[in-house]
Amino acid sequence: EIKSRGRNGVMVYNTLFTDKVLKRSALMSDLNLAITQDQFEMYYQPIVCLKTDTLLGAEALLRWHHPTRGTVAPGEFIAFAEENNLILELSALVFEKCLEDALRFGPHLHKNKPFTLAINVSSQEFFSEDYAQKVTAKLEDFAIAPSMIELEITETYLMRNPHVAVETIGYLRKSGLHIALDDFGTGYSSLNYLKNLPIDKLKIDQSFVRACLESHEDMAIVEAIVTMAKIFGMKVHAEGVETKEQAAVLKNLGCDVCQGYYYAKPLPFEAFITYMKESL
Ligand code: C2E
Ligand code: MG
Ligand code: MG
Ligand code: MG
Repeated sequence: EIKSRGRNGVMVYNTLFTDKVLKRSALMSDLNLAITQDQFEMYYQPIVCLKTDTLLGAEALLRWHHPTRGTVAPGEFIAFAEENNLILELSALVFEKCLEDALRFGPHLHKNKPFTLAINVSSQEFFSEDYAQKVTAKLEDFAIAPSMIELEITETYLMRNPHVAVETIGYLRKSGLHIALDDFGTGYSSLNYLKNLPIDKLKIDQSFVRACLESHEDMAIVEAIVTMAKIFGMKVHAEGVETKEQAAVLKNLGCDVCQGYYYAKPLPFEAFITYMKESL
C-alpha cells in the first residue's frame, strides 16, 4: 500500500514535471516562431490630462496573436522572454513597431497639441550596451522627434545598477526623450536616489489606485507620492483608473495625468485613431 502510494506520488510528480517542461519548450518554440513570423501587434491605451480632460498620448502595450491561443497579453510571456534570452530580439521588434506606428499617428495629430507615445522598456534592454545611443539613432533613422517618445522604466530594475541607470537616463533626457518611472511604489528605490534622478514623471502603480477609495492607507500612499513628485518637479500619472470616482479623487489629490479602463482599454491602432477623433 505504502509502496503504491509512493509510486502514485512519484507518478503525479512526474506528470506535473513533464507538463511544465513541455509547456516551457512549447512556449520557447512558439515564441521563437512568433518573433521570426512577427505575430505581434502594439495596442494603444489613451493617456488623459486630468485637469483639462484632453488626450495627451498613448501607452504602447504588446499583444501576441498566437495562431491557436488567440491574443495573448504580455503577462504571459514577457518574463519568460526575459529569462530565456529572447527579450532583446522581442524588444527590438517592439521598438521598431512603435516607431512605425508613431509615423502612422502623424497625419492624425494636431500641430499645436503635443502627443506622446509611451513605450515600456525591459530591464535587459535598458542595461544593454549603448542603449541610449541606439534609441536616439533609431529615432533619427525614422525622423521622429525624440520629444514624441516617453520611455517607461521601472524602479525595480533601476536599482540593479543605479549609476548606469542615471547615466542612461541623463543621456536620453538630454536628447529630448521623456522618462517615466512605471509601477511606482512597488519597488524599493531609495528616496535619496530618486531625488537625483532626472525623470519626468512617476506612474503610481494600479494597486494603490484601485484601493485608494476603500483604504485610508492606499489613499495616503497616493497623496504622499503626489506631494513628493511635486517637490521633485515631476509629474504624477495614475494608472488603472476604472471609475469616475477614482478619477475625481485623483484629480483632487493633484494628480496630473491618468490612464485606465474608465477612459479606454488598450486598443488596436485603427480603433485608437477612432477614439482619438471622437475625443477631440
Ligand atoms: P504596465 O506597463 O504597468 O501597463 C499597464 C497594464 O495595466 C497593461 O496590461 C494595461 O492593459 C493594464 N491596464 C490599464 N488600465 C487598466 C485598468 O483600468 N484596469 C486594469 N485591471 N488593468 C489596466 P498589459 O497590457 O497586460 O501589460 C502588462 C505589463 O506587461 C505592462 O505593465 C508592462 O510591464 C509589460 N509590457 C506590456 N507591453 C510591453 C512591451 O512592449 N515591452 C515590455 N518590455 N513590457 C511590456
Ligand atoms: Mg507601462
Ligand atoms: Mg504600470
Ligand atoms: Mg506593470
